[in-house]
Parts: sequence; structure tokens; C-alpha cells
Amino acid sequence: MGVYVHIPFCAQKCYYCDFYSVVVSREDFTSLVGSYLVSLRQEALYYRDRWKDGHLESLFIGGGTPTVLPPEELAGLISWFLEELPFGAEPEVTVEANPQSLTAAGAKVLAEAGVNRISLGVQAFQNHLLEAIGRVHRAEQVKASVAALRQAGISNVNLDLMFGLPGQSQREWTETLESAIALEPSHLSCYGLILEEGTPLEKWVSAGLVEVPDDDLQAEMYETACRILKGAGYEHYEISNFALPARRSRHNLLYWRNQPFIGLGSGATGYIQNCRYRNIPDLWRYIQCWRAGSPAYEDAEHVSPEQEMDETMMVGMRLLEGVDEASFRHRYGVSFWDVYQAAIADLLDRGLVKYTEGRLRVTARGLFLENQVSQAFLR
Ligand code: SF4
Repeated sequence: MGVYVHIPFCAQKCYYCDFYSVVVSREDFTSLVGSYLVSLRQEALYYRDRWKDGHLESLFIGGGTPTVLPPEELAGLISWFLEELPFGAEPEVTVEANPQSLTAAGAKVLAEAGVNRISLGVQAFQNHLLEAIGRVHRAEQVKASVAALRQAGISNVNLDLMFGLPGQSQREWTETLESAIALEPSHLSCYGLILEEGTPLEKWVSAGLVEVPDDDLQAEMYETACRILKGAGYEHYEISNFALPARRSRHNLLYWRNQPFIGLGSGATGYIQNCRYRNIPDLWRYIQCWRAGSPAYEDAEHVSPEQEMDETMMVGMRLLEGVDEASFRHRYGVSFWDVYQAAIADLLDRGLVKYTEGRLRVTARGLFLENQVSQAFLR
């Protein structure tokens, strides 16, 4: 199992973002953060007391922008989690950070608290593109952040990159990939921009005020990322993720293998004991619930074995290693060939998946049509 902790604060809201996060005024920040961190600890203890046999192997502090918290507060929270929750030896401890809010002193404090992996929201190396999507940092800050992390002893660094940005050219995307590789990160995530409904960017694109690369150019950009990163020695192990040997994200692998995880914080989701829940995406209400001593669920549903099988196939097909037939049979007592016979036959016919070495996995063509592949397993 892993633990995900949502820190829903940001310095400013990016134009494309629909994650739950808020921009809080300086006056309110200190008291609000203090109350929120108390609620997070209460929520962690609630799960610890109910799932005593849980064995935890990863802690992921995401957001939002966790590094907008004062480094000592964030480090104190992480040390507390590592001491109070049943983590095994050498857990993976990741913090998401924004280059603008990560200082050398902050990196050192986090490393001392046990953080051994940082995921840096870089997105692009051209300032005009960063401005176009409302990012608060500038390209020059990325190099300094990575150097600060190295100096603090954190060598496991992921860089998040985005393609399909407004006005982005293929040349700029290639430059971004090359600039990222030059910093020698251990892991890279490359996501295509998604125009989420209701975000400023989606509205501007719908109104014809902003143009984004069309589907063909986005597909070319994705292909470029796969080629360049593979050439630089990165293993393409998940649709959007690339890693140096032994540097896959252990925490994210839990999601892609449909394993249980505890989600803490306002807006977080969790999946434990066949229950999938989402906490209220409203941090004031979240704090109120925990002041009254009760979980702040927005919704919670029991996941039936059939649903879980579907989800295991859907998320598992995101991994290039695919889904192992023997492991699936061991977990559910039935072969995926029997459950999804027609769906798999259709995907094989269309050349979107292949079955090799006991695993069902996407083909090169299936990578581009991943949505169609995963939807085929939804009964
Ligand atoms: S920093 Fe991340 S969470 Fe915050 S607004 Fe930007 S994309 Fe959203």
C-alpha cells in the first residue's frame, strides 16, 4: 500500500488546471495551513487505527504545490508520517515541487526529513509557453532547482513535461526534451495538454482566442518524446512515463497495478478494502469534519470483484509490460481470456494489443489509442 497526501495550496492557478487547489491570501495562510496539517494527522491516525496490518511502501505528497508550505512545516509533517505510520524499510518518499518554490535550504530540510524523490513541475523550457499556461516559474529556475536537489543528496528526480501547449511548435517540444535530458533526471513524465472543461484555457480555446496544436501534431510530439527519451537511455514503461533503470515510480506503479492506497487531504481519493472514496474538495469543510472527528468523504463506493477486475485491466494496459495472465488468475481465480474473450479478440484483430510471454500489452499502435484499449475492458 501507499499513502497519497494532498496539499491543496498553490501560488497561483495555472490556466489549464482542474485539480483541487486554492490560492490563499498571505493573511489567512498561516492559520489555515496550521489547521489543515492538524486534520491531515487526524485522518492518518484514523486509517492507521483501522488497518493495523497495512504495510506501506510509498508516501507521495502531491497537490497543489506542497513546496508553497514553509519547508520546516512540510518536513515536520513528512517526518511525522514516517514515524507514526507503518512504513517498511526504505519507503519511496516523493514530494511534488514547483521550481519557483524550491530553495536550496528547503531541499536540504526535506532530504533530512526522509524525502528521497522529487517530482518537479517543469512543463516547458520556453518562458512564453510557461506564461501561456499560467505557470508561476520561469525556465531558468529549473536548472537551479535540480542543482539544489543534487546538493541536498536527492538524486531521484522526476521532471514533468507537457506537449500540445498553446502555440507550441515541434521544434520547441524537441528543445524542451533535450533541455530536460541535459539535467540528467532519473525519470520523466510527458503529458499531452488536456483542455479540462471550465478551465480558463478551455474557454479561450473554445472562443477561438487561443490555438493549441491539432491532434496530428500532438501525436507527432508524443512520438518524438518516445524516440528521443528512448535514445537517451530511458525506459518507456508507462504510456506517459519514462525512467532510468530501477527508477520507475514505485508509488505510481501501485495505481497502475490497481493496488490499495490511502488518500489523505481535501480532494484526495483513496482505495482501501474494496472501498474507493473521495474526500470533499473544500478544505474548510474538510477541516470542519475532522474537528468533529469524522472522515470528510464526498463519496465512497464499494468496488465489486467484477469492477476491480475491469479496473485492473484498464489501468494495467497503461503499462508497457501489460497485464500478466498468471498474476491476474492468481488474484481473481479466473483468466482474463475467459472474462474478456470478445474484447481481447477485437483488440488483437485491430492490432492494438498483443499477447507475448504470458502478458497482454499494448502495441506501438495501441499506445496512441490507449483510451480505446482501456475502454474495451469496461463491462
Ligand atoms: S501548480 Fe499544479 S496544482 Fe497548482 S494550479 Fe498549477 S497545475 Fe494546478
